Amino acid sequence: MTQESEALLQLSKEDQIIQQSARKLEKIPQERNLIRKPLHSVETYLTELSKKVEKIQRQITLRERLIAIEKKKLDRSNKRMMTVSNQKEFSAMQKEVDETTRILRRTEDQILDLEEKALPLQAEITQANKELADKTKDLQGDLDELDGREKELQTRSTQAQAQREKLLTQVPQKLLGAYQALVARKIVPAAIEVSTASCYGCAMAIRPQVFNDIMRAGSGVCPTCRRLIFYKAPESKEEKEEPKAKQKKAVST
Ligand SMILES: [Zn+2]
Repeated sequence: MTQESEALLQLSKEDQIIQQSARKLEKIPQERNLIRKPLHSVETYLTELSKKVEKIQRQITLRERLIAIEKKKLDRSNKRMMTVSNQKEFSAMQKEVDETTRILRRTEDQILDLEEKALPLQAEITQANKELADKTKDLQGDLDELDGREKELQTRSTQAQAQREKLLTQVPQKLLGAYQALVARKIVPAAIEVSTASCYGCAMAIRPQVFNDIMRAGSGVCPTCRRLIFYKAPESKEEKEEPKAKQKKAVST
């Protein structure tokens, strides 16, 4: 088999790895979601609690702003009271000061009430977080295993892509064009090696005459799926070496 054919076959294998990895990686979020399913109810509960606390916090913030405004007003009123020239004006100012003070007290009371309302919610959040941590701990093994699998698939895909870049330069343009047209039609692997008269790409038998041509030329095209086929002579049994028993080496001291 020519070096170019070898390169194309290898390219086909790398493309297959890239495609398979992508398909498996696509399913990972779904799998993770399934593993984490027992956590969903606690997580939903925690989200609800957080929303309630946030709402209270917003109400507190609004009141704190109001207090800041009213306090400035009170300062101004107090200063103006020093400069009023008659009783009528003084009484009017006094009334204003009293009103502002009332608003301040009422708002401060409201803040206290709100803070009191938030307390049990915060306790519930602490409790739910603990429950979530405990449950997560039970699932950690499965989650770690999935993370490991995801990382492995990513590494495999990255390596295959690097290999692919290298191989692309080793295949002649015309052959590469035919190959990539197949890949574009999602026929993967697009180049395969066969030893018998059947295409394992589409699982169809190849007519003897066509197969003979392929054998003679060393390569051809599957009449059914148009995959690029490279002929590989079947390995004869004599060629297969039995694994040799390891001989013990004499240890020299
Ligand atoms: Zn085929």
